[in-house]
Amino acid sequence: MDLSQRIQRIAVSPTLAVMMEAERYKARGIDVVDFGPGEPDFPTPDHIKRAAVRALEQNLTKYTATGGIAALRQAIVEWHAQQFGSSFKPAECVVTVGGKHAIFNAISVLINSGDEVLVPVPYWVSYPDIVKYVGGRMVEVPTPAAGGFTLRASAVEGVVGPRTRLLIVNSPNNPTGAVVPPEEFERIAEVCQRRGLWLLSDECYSHFVYGEARPFSIGGAKHDKERTIIVGSLSKTFAMTGWRIGYALGPQPLVDAIIKLQSQSTSNPTSIAQHAAVEALRGPMDSVQVMLAEYTRRRARVLEGMRALPGVTCAEPQGAFYVFPNVQKYVGDGSTPDTTALARLMLEQAHIAVVPGEAFGAPGYLRCSYATSMERIEEGLARLDKFLRSVSSRS
Ligand code: PLP
Repeated sequence: MDLSQRIQRIAVSPTLAVMMEAERYKARGIDVVDFGPGEPDFPTPDHIKRAAVRALEQNLTKYTATGGIAALRQAIVEWHAQQFGSSFKPAECVVTVGGKHAIFNAISVLINSGDEVLVPVPYWVSYPDIVKYVGGRMVEVPTPAAGGFTLRASAVEGVVGPRTRLLIVNSPNNPTGAVVPPEEFERIAEVCQRRGLWLLSDECYSHFVYGEARPFSIGGAKHDKERTIIVGSLSKTFAMTGWRIGYALGPQPLVDAIIKLQSQSTSNPTSIAQHAAVEALRGPMDSVQVMLAEYTRRRARVLEGMRALPGVTCAEPQGAFYVFPNVQKYVGDGSTPDTTALARLMLEQAHIAVVPGEAFGAPGYLRCSYATSMERIEEGLARLDKFLRSVSSRS
């Protein structure tokens, strides 16, 4: 069909593609252990759901301001200030249809055709395609596995060129779980400032950090924020993926530009979801601690299980809810030339769904989500062990 060049430059999100494939197996009655999902397996807390019901009952079902209701913009900046020590004003905040929408809009209003966008690898699947869609050029920033996939300021500095306009930092990281330590993040912000780059910080997993790490936002640090954009989301923190509420915080002219774009595209995010989001941010956050405690337990077990698999190495993730094991040993021959083929075989033969590393620019790895019950994790690890042993005995 005669579609635009713009749409032909991008592909369907590979994580959604894996989800669809796993769903096809499940629909045939097959018991799939699903390590694919990028969403909490917890329900949205009751007090948030009740706020949505109240909004419905009060007929708060009409258009709202394009950039979000005033009460939510206020709640976001106050919550962000309380959690991270930032000081944004409501006029520096726009409510979006999930964090992905905030990223799409921010990149759309900043990037001209041919501008370079620095993206640390492994990357979240949507960054490259959004950059391509708007006509930008992605430049990869290496984050070696040996350093736990942590982004370093020196690596950023090493790839900045005359056409570089933006750096995207995602900490905690999807898919690796790497967390940029606050001092390093400030050094990265300093590089951006000195080299005249915009810095987009995607902090969708901010509250899922382990060990020594604490929730951190560069939005709360002391550096000059003239060219800093914070993207956040209620999806993961409050188990609200389906509600589609995210936000961007940044200089008012940028926020106004995003609102202008929304005024000609989505209009406001769903009114009912916005009212529920006010409750999420203003109400108790116990549910976040409950999820974190459970993820902490699962992470320990998954990491131990992955490291016990023959020929597999696995860096310790500091955040999010993924592990990113290296399975290089099992790829490169005829039947499994790459991790995409290995993941397909794994789904076919062992009924385990994972996302192959190629989706994140990191061949040789698999992303396994532990946003699933401990029981399913045990079952998945047992199947994985059996599957990998059968693959290696064949080669
Ligand atoms: N950023 C990262 C790194 C993600 O993993 C996701 C979702 O998987 C998002 C942003 C977008 O989340 P949402 O649009 O649901 O807020």
